[in-house]
Amino acid sequence: MQKTDLISKKIEQSNRIRFSKSGAKDGPVLVLFAGIHGNEPAGLKAVDALSERLDSSSRAFNGTIYAVTGNKKALELGVRYLDTDLNRLWEIFNTTKERPFLNGVNVPAEYHESLEIKKLVDAIIEAHEESAKEFIFADLHTTSSQSCAFILLNDTLENREIARQFPVPQVLGIEENIHGTLLSYINNLGYKAIGFEAGAHNDEKSIERSEAFLWLLMNALGLYELKDSEISKFEERLHAHPGVPETYYEVRNHKYVEDPDFFEMISGFENFDTVKKGTPLAYEEGMLIKAPVSGRIFMPLYQKEGHDGFMIIREVPEFWLKLSAYLRSSFIHNYLKYLPGVSVINSQSYRVNRTLARFLVKEIFHLLGYRVTEKDENTLVCHKR
Ligand SMILES: [Zn+2]
Repeated sequence: MQKTDLISKKIEQSNRIRFSKSGAKDGPVLVLFAGIHGNEPAGLKAVDALSERLDSSSRAFNGTIYAVTGNKKALELGVRYLDTDLNRLWEIFNTTKERPFLNGVNVPAEYHESLEIKKLVDAIIEAHEESAKEFIFADLHTTSSQSCAFILLNDTLENREIARQFPVPQVLGIEENIHGTLLSYINNLGYKAIGFEAGAHNDEKSIERSEAFLWLLMNALGLYELKDSEISKFEERLHAHPGVPETYYEVRNHKYVEDPDFFEMISGFENFDTVKKGTPLAYEEGMLIKAPVSGRIFMPLYQKEGHDGFMIIREVPEFWLKLSAYLRSSFIHNYLKYLPGVSVINSQSYRVNRTLARFLVKEIFHLLGYRVTEKDENTLVCHKR
C-alpha cells in the first residue's frame, strides 16, 4: 500500500470526519468545517443532508470532499465553546513563538480540539498534494441575530475569486478585526478559504441556505455539475432581501466586548440594518453605546458568549476593488518604504508611524493587499496577505 493510501485510510477512520466522498483523484479537494461553534448546528445538518443526497446521486464526482466536525464537546452541550473560542485561537499555530498553552496548567478544552483539527488538515493535504488540482476550505457558521446569508473572507484575490460566485453580500478583511480564526490559519498556509454565514442559529432556513451554498460551491469548483435549473433554485434560496445589496463590504468599526455578561445589545437590530452615527446600539456596564460612524450594523451580539459586540460595515465601491486587483501585482510595493512614517520590518511587512503618516495610509496599504493592524495608538503594522 502506498503512503498516501495509508494516510487516506487514517483520515477516513477519524471520528472527526462527518462524511467524505472521493472520485477523480486529480480534481479539487474541498474541506468543509461545521460546528466550530457548538451552538451552531445548521452547518452540520446541511452537511448530513448533502451527504445523503450525494449517496443517491449517480452523477460523476470530480474530486474529493471532506466534512470536518468542529468543537465536539461544545456541540454535545449546545454551547458556543467550553473554555475559549475555537475560532479565535489559531494564531498559536502560525507563530514560531512558544505556544502559550503548552506549559500552562489550565489548558483550554479547545486547544485539544484545535490540535486534532490541525492534524487532520495536515493529513488531508499530505494525502492529496501530489495529485489534487487545488485545495479549497469553507467554514460554515450562523449568527445570534436575524440575518440573510453572507460570506466572510480575508481579502486576497484568490478568496475573492471563489466568493464572487455567490449571490450574497461579501464582507472583506474581517481578519483585521477578528484575530486567530481558522480561515486566517488556512489562508496563511497558502490555501483559499471562505466563511459562509447562513442566518440565525436556529432558523430552519439557515440549514437550507447552507446546503444551497454547498451545492453551488461544488458546482463552481467543478466537483459536481449542477443543471441550470438546479443552479437557479439554489441561488434563489441564497438571495438577501432587497434592502441588502449583494456587493462587497468592509469593516469600519469593531466593538470589542471585555465581558459579555455586562454587554447588552438593544433589541431589534437585524444584521445589515442601516444605522446613522449616534444611533443608540447597546449598553455596556450600564453605559449607553452609540454608533461611532454611519453604516450598516454587522453581527450584533445577541448571546452571552463571545467578545465581538457589533461591527459597522460599509459598501466598497466596485472601481476600488478593480483598482486594488490591478495594483496588487504591480511594482508599487517597492516604493512603499519611501512614504513618510513608513519603515520596513521585513520583505512582507511594514511599520507605519501614524504621527508622521496621517493621510490615507490605511487605504493605500489596503489597496495594495496588506492586512493592517493597530499595534498601539500611533503604530500600524501592515502585512502582505
Ligand atoms: Zn460561528
